[in-house]
Amino acid sequence: MTSITVDPELCVLCGLCTGVCPPNALELAPERLEVRDHCTGCGWCVPYCPVGALSGGRPRRDRGRG
Ligand code: SF4
Ligand code: SF4
Repeated sequence: MTSITVDPELCVLCGLCTGVCPPNALELAPERLEVRDHCTGCGWCVPYCPVGALSGGRPRRDRGRG
């Protein structure tokens, strides 16, 4: 399954992305951000990260098609 990647060097654990994921697949753990197995790889959360720690997922232009 397509998933997204969190760069732990960049992530400041602000938790902002956890509130925007439609299936609630992002979870803030004490020392890291976890991407749960049910992440669909939709890419929705990627642009919300203020420090660019999220990458991957489907490109925005593909959303809503097919
Ligand atoms: S890619 Fe989509 S499903 Fe996966 S964590 Fe981001 S918003 Fe959630
Ligand atoms: S929005 Fe970015 S910096 Fe904040 S918890 Fe998510 S991945 Fe980390």
